[in-house]
Amino acid sequence: MTKIVKFGGSSLADATQFKKVYDIIKADPTRRFVVPSAPGKRFAEDTKVTDLLYKAYYAKTQNEFNMTFEEIKSRYQDIIDGLNLNISLDTDFIEIQKNFEKQVGIDYAASRGEYLNGKLLANYLGFEFIDAKDVIFIDAHGNYDIKKTDPILSKTLMEVEYAVIPGFYGSLNDGSGNIKTFSRGGSDVTGSIVAKNGKVDLYENWTDVSGFLIADPRIVKKPDVIETITYKELRELSYMGASVLHENSVFPVRKEGIPINIKNTNKPEDPGTLIVESTCHKPTHVITGIAGTKGFATVMIEKDMMNSEIGFGRKVLQVFEDHDLSFEHMPSGIDTMTIIVNTAEFIFKEQDILAGIHRAVHPDSIVLESDLALIAVVGRGMKASRGTAARIFQALAKENINIKMIDQGSSELNIIVGVRNCYFNQAIKAIYNEFILNDK
Ligand code: ASP
Repeated sequence: MTKIVKFGGSSLADATQFKKVYDIIKADPTRRFVVPSAPGKRFAEDTKVTDLLYKAYYAKTQNEFNMTFEEIKSRYQDIIDGLNLNISLDTDFIEIQKNFEKQVGIDYAASRGEYLNGKLLANYLGFEFIDAKDVIFIDAHGNYDIKKTDPILSKTLMEVEYAVIPGFYGSLNDGSGNIKTFSRGGSDVTGSIVAKNGKVDLYENWTDVSGFLIADPRIVKKPDVIETITYKELRELSYMGASVLHENSVFPVRKEGIPINIKNTNKPEDPGTLIVESTCHKPTHVITGIAGTKGFATVMIEKDMMNSEIGFGRKVLQVFEDHDLSFEHMPSGIDTMTIIVNTAEFIFKEQDILAGIHRAVHPDSIVLESDLALIAVVGRGMKASRGTAARIFQALAKENINIKMIDQGSSELNIIVGVRNCYFNQAIKAIYNEFILNDK
């Protein structure tokens, strides 16, 4: 059995957190590969080291740079002192400062948070330090280069017993040797790549919550934790705004059938959430999770005899494509077709798109509304149970909430309902109460 453990920024924010991480890793000798983030927030108003690095790199005055750089240095020195480590980062900081002055690149700057934290953690644990720049290759768009990375990384991991590989960055895959990062939160992706190439049995992703919650805790008070969730369900929920893991962290492990266990560094005894490819575990409730996002607009197109006009839909969608805008849903009637889009993206292009639709299909009318929130009710348990949709509609009806749109994917994994923005929280609470509280 081999495990990879990834620790997020709040799990490594200071010496106290480092001690917890040490205890977790040392408690289980199968925890062989460790992927750390940069030190995160120690308290609510604190600043993550990654954000300080961005700030230092873009500092407008020497004074601003000096102050920010000192703050970064002291974050690491506090950890060194708090743990009595026999290591100095002085030469690293001299080199980093030089490179900042040379303006070698923002990705280099941002990556130093993980690099330095990885060095400290490796020293503290007595593990080997593997610089991610030597084993992970990333393309110009921030995607990991499988062909270049996998042979080198898997060989390197085979040759070590215990190692720390910093998250979030690697080398640009053009041979320049420049540092490139993933998008924000990308240490999750590194964890996944290490999991795949280390051929591990489990990817433990340690954070500051005890797993994936059934609903957003800012809306539902103390929602239950999801025990087991499939990758597909997770993707549906993440797409609709639920966030614990970086979106791209699922792909490398999914194909290998490696489960991810979300765990809480501050409560290691909690089982957390297990993310799996598929499972025979009966879900505790019919639904696995609820997530949603406000801020959608609807473009309703009406034209008599639309149903018999072949190519109508294609021509309308072509207009959206020409304006580089993706659509979320497309409910239709006999003589109507509605395109649902993200308002923030649509708003700048709206008049051009309207004109484009007029030219393309000559509709009788186009009506715009921009007050839609979408809520996804997701669950692999829906397939096997009757009346899920009815229960959702009843729960909303009881609250006097009008449903403006319904969409059920044919995979029967989710039901999406659209309500007015102002009913968003109330609707999520009502659905949670119906399926989780009333189920108990
Ligand atoms: N430190 C980086 C960030 O703040 C990457 C990560 O934590 O995963 O986004």
